[in-house]
Amino acid sequence: MKKGNKQQTLVLIKPDGLIKSLTGNIITELSDTGLKIVGAKIVQVTRELAEEHYQHLKEEKFFDELIKYIMGEYHTKRVLALIYQGENAVNKVRRFIGSTDPEKAEPTTIRGKYGRITSKGVFENVVHASENEKEAEREIKLWFRPKELVQTIYPTESKEVKKVEYFWKK
Ligand code: ADP
Repeated sequence: MKKGNKQQTLVLIKPDGLIKSLTGNIITELSDTGLKIVGAKIVQVTRELAEEHYQHLKEEKFFDELIKYIMGEYHTKRVLALIYQGENAVNKVRRFIGSTDPEKAEPTTIRGKYGRITSKGVFENVVHASENEKEAEREIKLWFRPKELVQTIYPTESKEVKKVEYFWKK
């Protein structure tokens, strides 16, 4: 493997991971990768975001169920989105999470330990992680705004926007 290949990857703790209180376990397991978290937020996933994120699977028969799953219809309407950064981040995280199908995932991986297949055939596999560097960039740009990260990882541009901001009521 190429040395000095600093990458970013998007990790999502899916609604089943949150409802099962697996957040701590998953973050602890991922700390063994030695990677650094450079962005984190809790998200209520809209249909638009879900469909854009899983655009490559639109033709699959499980697509509608997958969208309901990631939007939290079966568990809780929350996803924890994290950006991990470091050498070969994409493959390192993929190795730790294991195969897509939780029944085929190595039992020592996150999906192998905590995932299941529902009677409807949905792979409830607890976490998502970007498949390659190109997808990682696409996904990070979809889930995060530049200012939500502790450092600039991709080129940015500024635009003037008029918007209403909310503050805590005094
Ligand atoms: P990965 O999440 O490992 O990158 P994919 O992008 O192929 O895998 O699939 C996205 C998600 O869709 C999976 O994590 C899983 O929740 C669901 N999924 C994938 N394949 C199937 C399948 N054959 N049956 C049911 N759900 C699936």
